[in-house]
Amino acid sequence: MTSKLLRVSFMLAALTLSVTFSLQSDQPKVLLVSFDGFRWDYLYRVPTPHFHYIMKYGVQVQQVTNIFITKTYPNHYTLVTGLFAENHGIVANDMYDPILNKSFSLDDMDIYDSEFWEEATPIWITNQRAGHTSGAAMWPGTDVKIHGSFPTHYMPYNDSVSFEDRVAKIIEWFTSKEPISLGLLYWEEPDDMGHQLGPDSPLMGPVISDIDHKLGYLIQMLKKAKLWNVLNLIITSDHGMTQCSQERIIELDQYLDREHYTLIDQSPVAAILPREGKFDEVYEALAQAHPNLTVYKKEEVPERWHYKHNSRIQPILAVADDGWHILRNKSDDFLLGNHGYDNALAEMHPIFLAHGPAFRKNFTKAAMNSTDLYPLLCHLLNITALPHNGSLSNVQDLLISPTPRASPNTQTPPLLHGSVKPRENEQDESYAYFIGVSLGSVIVIVFLIVLIKHLIRSQIPALPDFQAEISQPLLQA
Ligand SMILES: [Zn+2]
Repeated sequence: MTSKLLRVSFMLAALTLSVTFSLQSDQPKVLLVSFDGFRWDYLYRVPTPHFHYIMKYGVQVQQVTNIFITKTYPNHYTLVTGLFAENHGIVANDMYDPILNKSFSLDDMDIYDSEFWEEATPIWITNQRAGHTSGAAMWPGTDVKIHGSFPTHYMPYNDSVSFEDRVAKIIEWFTSKEPISLGLLYWEEPDDMGHQLGPDSPLMGPVISDIDHKLGYLIQMLKKAKLWNVLNLIITSDHGMTQCSQERIIELDQYLDREHYTLIDQSPVAAILPREGKFDEVYEALAQAHPNLTVYKKEEVPERWHYKHNSRIQPILAVADDGWHILRNKSDDFLLGNHGYDNALAEMHPIFLAHGPAFRKNFTKAAMNSTDLYPLLCHLLNITALPHNGSLSNVQDLLISPTPRASPNTQTPPLLHGSVKPRENEQDESYAYFIGVSLGSVIVIVFLIVLIKHLIRSQIPALPDFQAEISQPLLQA
């Protein structure tokens, strides 16, 4: 009778443990890829067979509304937090925080001060807090210590590391003994060439073709590693690009005395910090300055931009019309292509494609917001989303099973205003994993107690004098 009980409890313990560990190893895999500055319509400029392969066997969203301002760091942080810039705190590539009295600059790679990033918690940290692992190949912000953590694996930013080397790292992490569940891969093109050539240049054709080849390489490597059919791959970008011209330059020196203000961020959204007592003078001068420049006091910034409730947003914002460039004067650097403009402009919109076991096949969706990606990622990873500005229900039709597993906080109501600051959510652990571990532990303990009792009983008649000595170490074990 006892040995039967023993066998049953042993089998139960083994089963529960295997379920627990398989829950961990069967943790869904998600790879998020960003090709910086890949405008939505680049897909149709030249043949892009690999992008079209993903569209045919996966999903595509035609218009993705990203966040204002349509710059690299603000938008990459939105992709991994689901928050508007005013909520995640990375409000520009170049910032000044008057409370911290600190500056942040992408141009100078002065971006490693944790405090700038800690108004939000990016998805790699939430994934890790839920007991999973993450790996990042150059994704903006992943080599910054945020809330005391880095991604489980990451590459310190170095733009000379090839795409192939970044892919190799991602594959290595996904196929290691303790595989990552979330991978983040970043590539600097076609943004760099888009700035230099302008998106309308015929020379952009080969640049886009090269990105398509790189995507082909990634697909090939994922297939080789037997990851292609088990991994959910999302290909997106941070923003588009618009054509600029020497004929469309707004020179601030023509309207403002340099002594009266500090230019925190330049173009196409000039972030202006007036010197003390100079606010009215600077504002009046700018407001009348140029027909293609719209000037806002911070509190007058349009609601749809969700871009006012943060101390890093400067008191005056001067926003150029599409294709116009703001310089102090023409001796400043000029770019033939730029982004950062109104996020309602199609030219600013990025691509969005996805392929994998969770996604439908050959499905095209008209529109989504880039803030919706974060709850989608949390859903795919089976982790609980922190408060965010997106909506899973907006993008659920991309998925094969439209009604997801119960994941209580994945659909947090969107924060409508920046004044509502997101709070840390304590419930960011994976329930399935914990239930498995707790159940497993209880059964193992019960099994050990039964085993010990059984051993003790079987020892009693044979070794009556050694009972105390034998039972003691066993109980400690
Ligand atoms: Zn960018």
